[in-house]
Amino acid sequence: MSHSSTKNQQIDATALLSDLIKCPSVTPNNAGVLEVVEAFLKPLGFEVFRLKFSGDGSYPVDNLFAIRKGKNLNNNSKHLLFGGHTDVVPIGDERHWTHPPFSAHIENGELWGRGAVDMKSGVAAFCVAIKLAIENGSAENGTISLAITNDEEADAINGTEKILKWASEKGHKFDFSIVGEPSSAKKLGDKIKIGRRGSFDGHIVVRGKQGHIAYPEKCINPIPVLAEIALAISNEPLDEGNEHFQASNLEISTFDVGNRATNVIPAEASLRFNVRHNDIWTRKKLLYWVQAHIDKIDNRGTEILFESPTRGANCFIFPAGDAVALLDKIIEQRTGNKPQHSTTGGTSDARFIAKLCPVVECGLVGNHMHAVDERVPISEIEGLTEIYTSFIKRYFAN
Ligand SMILES: [Zn+2]
Repeated sequence: MSHSSTKNQQIDATALLSDLIKCPSVTPNNAGVLEVVEAFLKPLGFEVFRLKFSGDGSYPVDNLFAIRKGKNLNNNSKHLLFGGHTDVVPIGDERHWTHPPFSAHIENGELWGRGAVDMKSGVAAFCVAIKLAIENGSAENGTISLAITNDEEADAINGTEKILKWASEKGHKFDFSIVGEPSSAKKLGDKIKIGRRGSFDGHIVVRGKQGHIAYPEKCINPIPVLAEIALAISNEPLDEGNEHFQASNLEISTFDVGNRATNVIPAEASLRFNVRHNDIWTRKKLLYWVQAHIDKIDNRGTEILFESPTRGANCFIFPAGDAVALLDKIIEQRTGNKPQHSTTGGTSDARFIAKLCPVVECGLVGNHMHAVDERVPISEIEGLTEIYTSFIKRYFAN
């Protein structure tokens, strides 16, 4: 890369990130942030679609889908999808911030602001990488799309999943996707995420028979039954993990009776739990496993109800493949080390993309994300832009 393009890239990525951070786009407020993305992409030849989705028990959300077909396409040309979000988590108490959270203040080589790490930098770096790939001609050898939502941090109901459904219905097919979530641990590129664990929620209610605590023969106490269930589902490990994933884990998050009277045997007791699970499990298998443990318990005349009220999140993994190998190589050439392949952390929108094509999460070091004084070293924004630029060039050349 020539000196002048490095300098342009530095100016571009930092300037674009500043513009994004100055929009206070706390979920689901757009606050002009998608207009900034749109204004950057349109002059590059992108067709930009602003998609507003609503319903399904959640608030309305602004989203953006953009697509640019290269000039030299043939039957083997690839379609690369970038996934990301422009919404940010709330700032908390502004008085705790050293610099105002939407000021995009730059000091000592760092750019400050809510979303600097999670993940406006990822969006800025990818947009500028596209601009550079257009300038060096490599973007003409493939198709580039972006699916950007303004609701990843909260419900995620009217966001990425619906953008992709819309794009699929329009006939768009993707070969590979990069999600720009912060994936690195200590140094840029030391980790990429090749999968994520799934999340499964459960709710168990035990119904007994209420009555005077002095006449237990006339009552059925649901508490000991629920306690036995709690022990049965939490004592037995689900698995020991595998090559790509840590062990699945079930945690009881609450155990509720709500009985304030000392002389009453309550009618009902309930608990909620969550399982973070690897690819050994599916939603169906977990439903069966929990039910089997409930069925082993002596119900002592109670009625036991088990349901998984939320839809949860699927687990996914893309351990190998040419595109991931190429990304590994690019990162190794830049940093001297191959990135570690990780599947840790919470859920992300990559789970929706995983249903359509292989997806990897490759982004900044996750320090300061969701924290007070979120900030990013400008050198890292540049580094990430370079990684994305090389990837577009070499992925389309293959
Ligand atoms: Zn994020």
